[in-house]
Amino acid sequence: MDQRKACVIGAGIVGVCSALWLQREGFDVTVVDAGPIGEGASFGNAGNISPGSVVPHLIPELWKELPGWMLDAQGPLTVRPAHVLKALPWLLAAARASRRERVLEVSRAMLALHGNALQAYETLTHGTQAARLIERCGQLYVSEHPTAAHGSALVQMLRSSAGVRSEALDWMEVRELEPSLAPIFRSGLLLPDNARTRDPHALVKALAGEATRNGATFVRGKVTGFDRSAGQVRAVLIEGRPQPVENVVIAAGAASGQLSAWLGTRVPLAAERGYHITISDAGVAPRIPVMHCDARFVASPMDVGLRLAGTAEFAALDAAPNWRRTQVLENQARRMFPGVRVEKVSRWMGSRPSLPDGLPVLGRAPGCRNAWFAFGNSHFGMTAGPTMGRLVAELLAGRQTSIDVAPYAAERFAR
Ligand SMILES: Cc1cc2nc3c(=O)[nH]c(=O)nc-3n(C[C@H](O)[C@H](O)[C@H](O)COP(=O)(O)OP(=O)(O)OC[C@H]3O[C@@H](n4cnc5c(N)ncnc54)[C@H](O)[C@@H]3O)c2cc1C
Repeated sequence: MDQRKACVIGAGIVGVCSALWLQREGFDVTVVDAGPIGEGASFGNAGNISPGSVVPHLIPELWKELPGWMLDAQGPLTVRPAHVLKALPWLLAAARASRRERVLEVSRAMLALHGNALQAYETLTHGTQAARLIERCGQLYVSEHPTAAHGSALVQMLRSSAGVRSEALDWMEVRELEPSLAPIFRSGLLLPDNARTRDPHALVKALAGEATRNGATFVRGKVTGFDRSAGQVRAVLIEGRPQPVENVVIAAGAASGQLSAWLGTRVPLAAERGYHITISDAGVAPRIPVMHCDARFVASPMDVGLRLAGTAEFAALDAAPNWRRTQVLENQARRMFPGVRVEKVSRWMGSRPSLPDGLPVLGRAPGCRNAWFAFGNSHFGMTAGPTMGRLVAELLAGRQTSIDVAPYAAERFAR
């Protein structure tokens, strides 16, 4: 019998993990990307791998903070003035999704997707170069306000009902745990079961290397459309040239909204931008990733230096970066780490693929027998990537999925 074939669009963490799991299901895999492997959002994120990520980003209490954030040029969230009208429907949908009952549902769906992240990575990386890039080290949340790092009553309830272990710390315990930090933090929370990657880009490239060794083909080219007939994708157009396909997986990150629309499904996918600075020879670094809860960024020790990554900016997918956002991170680095040398700095901007309820889209494309969606992991793609990939492979193989995928269906936006 001929080997079954799958074409994955996007060589980010979701695409390469999908390729590896599809190979385990016996598929012959081609991965198409418009650019080099792993240079989308998967390139420059904070590298947190967080099985304990069960708190949606938009929860009822957050809306009280939003006006203040948006008026503060140094704040953690901005909307470009030219983009306000475009972003408004997304923000209103996010506000609707932040009702308490919906937050509880979303939290359960996050647990299902994130809870086994480390086991899924272990299965994929065992005995490979990629294994050393993942470290089970825990993560530390800190705040400049007493108890704020512990989270609100709702946040604490979400973590405890999901069985996420955490340890509340006072300012002295924060100092003992992470002496590199300035004495400005008054509360902390240790999440001992969370982890990090030492370099997200290197991790994606190492996984892609494994897929290549297993026989996958990586093709460089932009997907510009699809040839469809009788409820099937017949060919993917790469730079306009048709490439026949048997199955196609859309894992194109923040660009996936456009590709889905070509298949007749509209999803409210936003490009939620984030920025990073990576400081080499910083002279100081925390031992483990430290999330600054008030300013909403993470300071991570990486093989390539001390990285501060985070914040959110809504702008058009192709708008130029606003590098002033990285100045905010530079100021924070000086405030957070006394004695840090901020001389050799690289700057980066990437677009998180974000849906208003914070859950991804995963499943068969409506009305299309052989097309599958796998995108929209917003702030959690490095965590969700390996499980998304496993589910993609199970779906294409026609097997019972290891978790219920109904909460991630694209159809939820049509209701
Ligand atoms: C500042 C920041 C910090 C973050 N920190 C964390 C963190 O600590 N932990 C965590 O879990 N997540 C984090 N994230 C989120 C995470 O980075 C993303 O969710 C994840 O990388 C998305 O992966 P992806 O494979 O879906 O998309 P991407 O990595 O963006 O890959 C999509 C690929 O598709 C390709 N593509 C797009 N359009 C086309 C086309 N038409 N034809 C061919 N190819 C195409 C692109 O070139 C790209 O390579 C962070 C994000 C940001 C921005």
